[in-house]
This record gives sequence, C-alpha cells and structure tokens, in this order.
Amino acid sequence: MAYKHKVRKPLIAGNWKMNDLKGDARSLAKSIALETKKIDLNCEVLICPPFTVLSGVKNALWGSNVKLGAQDCSWAENGAHTGDISPVMLKEVGCEYVILGHSERRTDHKETSSMVRSKAKAAHKAGLRTIICIGETLAEREAGLAKEVCEKQIMTSVPKESNGGNTVIAYEPVWAIGTGKTPTPDEVEDMHAFIRSVLVKKLGAMPAVRMRILYGGSMKPSNAEQLLSLKDVDGGLIGGASLKVEDFMSIIKKVK
Ligand code: PEP
Repeated sequence: MAYKHKVRKPLIAGNWKMNDLKGDARSLAKSIALETKKIDLNCEVLICPPFTVLSGVKNALWGSNVKLGAQDCSWAENGAHTGDISPVMLKEVGCEYVILGHSERRTDHKETSSMVRSKAKAAHKAGLRTIICIGETLAEREAGLAKEVCEKQIMTSVPKESNGGNTVIAYEPVWAIGTGKTPTPDEVEDMHAFIRSVLVKKLGAMPAVRMRILYGGSMKPSNAEQLLSLKDVDGGLIGGASLKVEDFMSIIKKVK
C-alpha cells in the first residue's frame, strides 16, 4: 500500500452528467454493483447520476459498497427556489456525496466560486461530502496562469471548515474534460502538489494532508494506472469512461 493510501483512501467517482434514463441507469448501476462485489476494492467507489434516477440507482446499488452522489445542489435548505434541489433532499434519497463547481456548471450556469462555497457549506450542514472542482482553461494555461487560477478557486470555493472527512478536491483542467487530452504526468504531479500546498495555507497542515485530491479529465483505462500512481493523486473523477462498465471497472482495478 502506497504511503498516501495509508493517510487517504483513494476515491474513484463516476460523473454520469446528463446521461441515461431510468432503465439504462439502473442496469449500469446494477452491473457496477455486481462487478465491484467480485473484487477486493482498493478504493471507495462512487457514482453520480442525474437527479431523476438517483432513487432507482440507490435501489440498484443495494447491498453493494458503491456509494451514491449527485452532481449539484442548492445553497438553500428549502423554500422558494424553483428548479433547485436541496442538500437535505439529496441526503434523503441516499446520497453521500455531491459534486460542486464542475466546470460545466461554472460555464453553463455562470456559477462563481463564492456560489460554490455557499453550496458546499449547505451540503456539509446536511451531512454530505463535497467534491469541489477546480481547473484552468486552455487560454489560462497557455498564459501561464494555471496555478494562479486554481489557487484563487480553492481560496474562494472551499469553506474554511472543510477537512479531509467532508471535502474532496477534483483538479480538472477544463481543456482535458471530454477531449481525450491530458496534461503530462509531471504536470499533473506538479499541480497536485501545488494544490496541496494551497490547502495547507488555507486550512492548516492536518486537514490538508488528509484531503483527497482527485484528477479529472479524460481519465481512461489506458492512462489511469499512470495517473493514479502519481504522488498526491488520490483517485479520479471520471466522465465518459464511467458510462461503460468495462472501462469504469478497469480504472477501479488500476488503484494499487
Ligand atoms: C468530468 O466531466 O468530470 C470528466 C472528467 O469528464 P471526462 O472523463 O469525460 O473527461
């Protein structure tokens, strides 16, 4: 067992995005539940389907070690917020995690880091663990601003009461999401070490050392082993490859 895994249990999380109706979602979840039962898991496994299928997927996961999460939540507990879903509602349906600040939400819904922080506070209050996404665009990277952008996102998106128990960071370079492109292993390692140092600055050494930092962006069976072996990479947030049982399972099996 790698040193980092003694301190932080790796997490492999599937982000299904806006995919799958009830039938396909249930059969995908059932297959993942079944396949994970056949192996000794070296990591926590999480799937984050769309809101509409959370309940059906929860039933399909019954008796397995696969956890359920959502892809967003409101900053409010209840009330006049048409179209929103509160963290308490997610908790009731069986979610343990919620992804917040994914770049697609930051772009499509103009979510700012301070909105992400408000949502994270509400999620923590409801007893959910948050996966807070950060990452630079290609233009920002090419301008040499990747670290500055990520530092600012951490400083503003992560609530000060965050710790390794209630928060996971996902570093997802925007230009790597769904594109098949990934940073080099050296670039990923360098950025994850930097993110950890920013977390130390913001939260103190102990919470920062215990906080998992996932890599996300075109992780697939062919590159997972290398990415997951890097120092300070504590798992992956996986989009496209989490919709195919064989690919998702292959990534899960790469956690050593
Ligand atoms: C994501 O959207 O979080 C993601 C990492 O997507 P993909 O794996 O498809 O790049």
